[in-house]
Amino acid sequence: MKIAFIGLGNMGGGMAANLVKAGHDVRAFDLSEGARSAAEAAGCTTFTSASEACSDAQAVVSMLPNGGIVKSVYENDVFGTAPKGAVFLDCSTIDVATAKSVIEAATSQGYDMVDAPVSGGIAAANGGTLTFMVGGTDEAFTRAEPILQAMGKAVIHAGDAGAGQTAKICNNMLLAITMIGTAEAMKMAEKLGLDPQKFYEISSQSSGYNWSLNAYTPLPGVGVESPADNGYAGGFATPLMVKDLRLAMEAAETADAAVPLGSRAAALYEDFLGAGNDALDFSAIIKTYD
Ligand code: NAD
Repeated sequence: MKIAFIGLGNMGGGMAANLVKAGHDVRAFDLSEGARSAAEAAGCTTFTSASEACSDAQAVVSMLPNGGIVKSVYENDVFGTAPKGAVFLDCSTIDVATAKSVIEAATSQGYDMVDAPVSGGIAAANGGTLTFMVGGTDEAFTRAEPILQAMGKAVIHAGDAGAGQTAKICNNMLLAITMIGTAEAMKMAEKLGLDPQKFYEISSQSSGYNWSLNAYTPLPGVGVESPADNGYAGGFATPLMVKDLRLAMEAAETADAAVPLGSRAAALYEDFLGAGNDALDFSAIIKTYD
């Protein structure tokens, strides 16, 4: 299938390469020349504008930084340029309102479109093991699913347009809360004289078990191997967690949803980022308890 791919950064580069490996004819564009060269080396055909990349495509996949950019790329370069009947998959993490409005505009112009944000970081993007949470009509989902399967291990239809972004921000708000809760409990146990490894052994098999503790233990040398064992490098960078929490807080306000813990977690992560921790994994927030 002829697939245009827009946004070949940390995530998009690996995803486009996996579409090539699955046998697709990938027509790639990024503003960065370096990203275009890497995509070329991975077997994509590259173009110097998004509209050229889309002009003959049956599907368009985008992996871009934010909602403003997604909206402008689709409005200026994709709508009216991609052949009628093409299917669009926006895999970026963006605000729910923009996701819904871009999908509505695509639909009104005769295209199918889904929002399909991902869970999993750069390693999962490179390895083709992302989880996609997808919003859109049944028909749009059916068309998008085989394309997403080539880049991931799980593709879940969350609901109508915007439901993928809703699932993503609610999930990441929960992740922020469990990470902070895990950090707090581990540090309190330590201060009360309990060996952190013993706390891990007990709580990870008791009612305190959760993904942040069991699968991403935030203390070095305790529990499973995680970014903590690597000086908090790699993993899920703090600025991306802050981005997702800002989107979550915005969405909570529009829905008039009560988020006392989510807003506290968002404030703690804002402070952590503001203290110059932008290069660290989000689990490094445990350092603030030292
Ligand atoms: P990135 O900054 O590495 O890549 C974004 C790319 O988009 C860059 O190469 C940039 O040059 C390109 N770009 C920007 N504006 C453009 C335009 N107008 N036209 C074409 N290209 C343009 O970011 P990333 O880490 O790959 O993240 C992409 C998206 O995936 C974000 O929405 C992010 O929140 C989401 N995400 C990232 C991760 C992660 O671990 N990195 C995990 C899950 C979701």
